[in-house]
Amino acid sequence: MQTMQINSLPTQEKEWRSAFPILNKVLYGKYPLVYLDNAATTQKPRQVVEAMTEEYYNVNANVHRGVHFLSMQATDLHEASRETVRRFLNARSASEIVFTRGTTESINLVASCFGQAFMKEGDEVIISEMEHHSNIVSWQLLGESRGIKLRIVPITDDGRIKMDDYEKLFGERTKIVSITHVSNVLGTVNPVRDIIRIAHEHGVPVLIDGAQSTPHMPIDVQELDCDFFAFSGHKVYGPTGIGVLYGKEEWLDRLPPYMGGGEMIKTVSFEHTTYNDLPYKFEAGTPDYVASTGLAKALDFVTSIGLDTIQTHERDLTDYAMQRLMEVEDMNIFGPKDVSLHDAVISFQVGNIHHLDMGTLLDRLGIAVRTGHHCAEPLMHRLGIEGTCRASFALYNTREDVDALVEGIKRVRQMF
Ligand code: PLP
Repeated sequence: MQTMQINSLPTQEKEWRSAFPILNKVLYGKYPLVYLDNAATTQKPRQVVEAMTEEYYNVNANVHRGVHFLSMQATDLHEASRETVRRFLNARSASEIVFTRGTTESINLVASCFGQAFMKEGDEVIISEMEHHSNIVSWQLLGESRGIKLRIVPITDDGRIKMDDYEKLFGERTKIVSITHVSNVLGTVNPVRDIIRIAHEHGVPVLIDGAQSTPHMPIDVQELDCDFFAFSGHKVYGPTGIGVLYGKEEWLDRLPPYMGGGEMIKTVSFEHTTYNDLPYKFEAGTPDYVASTGLAKALDFVTSIGLDTIQTHERDLTDYAMQRLMEVEDMNIFGPKDVSLHDAVISFQVGNIHHLDMGTLLDRLGIAVRTGHHCAEPLMHRLGIEGTCRASFALYNTREDVDALVEGIKRVRQMF
């Protein structure tokens, strides 16, 4: 059972897992938890939870506005966290790091502010067929209010961007490209360097949705040369309710504020208000300064292991899982078969067993997977399906977890 499994693991995996108390849970009185829903959210290591508890117990005070000891200490922690994020993404300056509530808010911020500043009726945004709803609906809202059009890059049957079609979508009205780095359904790793290079050749900026790449690979926004990059803290072992928008200073400077309130202003009168410097112009109201500490701890945690090491481990797991899953009769795996293009997320369907039945029965064996359309309904339409079962890996997953999944699926299959 659980202890035997842990004992048989290599030392480094045992050490990584030991930071996550929740992984010791036993479900329904006998099944050790096999947590394979990491694309939805990751578990939190002790370091994150303890740092946040410590801040609430010993530091708590509102940031930026206080002259008293605790407020200054909380402000220092919050700004040190911003610097940790800067280092993590290799941004040029901490003023390019905007704290948001998550990827969704980051994308909405860009859609709203960029749209307001640079787009008018008939202008176009390029997105792809594999986007999460947050990278579709944010732009649709803009379309409704300002008459902006979506241009959609098609994908191949195995879930890769059709690059020739992408290039053909550019025209005079193209104002921005907004594309996911890694698909949350197919696990496809998109060729974002080429996507960005081609957009820049047309003088068009690019927003990269990094929700599913940030936990799994090193990110260097300067090397990518993306104009905006969004990610969520909770998907990279950090707390919920905090995320990041990176933006090149020259773009953020030219965008209007997103929300009005405290923090984002320099002076206010009834006649005229002036706005704060970057990044505070985009951070109206009290920020979640405790979550920023948690996020920084989470990023320190993954950095101490090394994103390269994490990527190698998870690629190995993905590769192993793809091979083992193919042992199951009637198994259909979506997305690229080549594991160098396929990252830590595997969507599958077994014969005509409904994904909801599969997920529910796997749960009864202690195995947590996600089922449904994964907030990507247009992609489901493209694939001609209603939904999938999705297993997604994190650094603490093991080959034993994959074995449990495969054995679980085989058992479920026998029931039908
Ligand atoms: N983009 C992608 C690719 C995602 O997978 C998700 C969440 O699953 C999001 C955006 C939205 O992230 P959040 O709900 O943390 O804002």
